[in-house]
Amino acid sequence: MLTDSYGGICPNCGYDRMLVRYGSSGYFQRDACPNCQFAYGHNDYDPEVRGQELWEGEIFEMRSILEERGFPVSVLGILLYIETLPDIREIKSVFDYPGDFNWGGC
Ligand SMILES: [Zn+2]
Repeated sequence: MLTDSYGGICPNCGYDRMLVRYGSSGYFQRDACPNCQFAYGHNDYDPEVRGQELWEGEIFEMRSILEERGFPVSVLGILLYIETLPDIREIKSVFDYPGDFNWGGC
């Protein structure tokens, strides 16, 4: 089982509405911050995925939602869309990040 939601604090910029996908062990889980483009995810078998590579998949998956609501089909569009959703503070980031975590972004 996987759950897609939003929340958690971005370890890079502090934004509090990351896209989060979490669930049973073995599934691909990820955190993705549309504010600074931080993205990090993995499952138990495949290598970690970071940054741009992960966003390409997110944009593809969210294309129809973004188009339906008139947002640009981009990370910025995802940010604008997330900002229209109600606050849900109880959701945490999927992973814990050390202070010196290097996510490979800009
Ligand atoms: Zn961020």
